Amino acid sequence: MATVKNARRRPQAEVPEGESARTCVGCGARVSPHDLVRLVLAEAPDGTTTVVPDAKGGSFGHGAHVHPSPECLQVAVRKGLPRAWKREVKIDPAVLARDIVAAYSRRLEGLLLGGIRGGLVVFGGDAVAEACTNGEAVLLLVAADAAAAARRSVVVKMTEAGKTLVYGDKRGLARALGRTTTGADGTKDERDGVAVCALTNVALATAVRRAWLCAVGLSTTAVSVTSPADGSPRSPSEAEA
Ligand SMILES: [Zn+2]
Repeated sequence: MATVKNARRRPQAEVPEGESARTCVGCGARVSPHDLVRLVLAEAPDGTTTVVPDAKGGSFGHGAHVHPSPECLQVAVRKGLPRAWKREVKIDPAVLARDIVAAYSRRLEGLLLGGIRGGLVVFGGDAVAEACTNGEAVLLLVAADAAAAARRSVVVKMTEAGKTLVYGDKRGLARALGRTTTGADGTKDERDGVAVCALTNVALATAVRRAWLCAVGLSTTAVSVTSPADGSPRSPSEAEA
């Protein structure tokens, strides 16, 4: 069974073929870039520099990779980044951690909204159960306060297969899916909370999992579900087999 016990163990996914490994400037491990946060040194015209998380990937600039863990980030700021960029790096690791969480949380929300628009995300108990039963569901996101949904047998099965991630609360998940309405008095309508959603596309699920790892790895939110050791993309039919 996919266990809570393993939750804090850093996933040591093998580097998929055709993908070059990157070195964490914190611990020095060489791993798949999918397990690392990419940081870019951005330089303003006046010569001042800032460290920017490249959540989307491909940002221009001098990049460096680091595990989304407080330990690696501490060492990276003190030693790894100055060495990689050959210059002083003046940033508080706690501030950088917050920036990374914010950047990857935004990335996660962007991916989910795109998934909704593209018809690659379904939500609502019955729709999710159907997607799980017919093998279309690649990954589930379950709200942390959705205990009833998490106990449903279809969800438990996905969790045991390492295919469930805990995402915020019901309102947060609704917001990420663009389902929250704001009343005339400015209050959010809680009836729009979403307990669970299913991602039905492998590429989307891979991107969401990565953004989730980077956002959650550095936030104080407890990680309660494991990620499978094999993070390589598979087709839905293969994943189902
Ligand atoms: Zn590291």
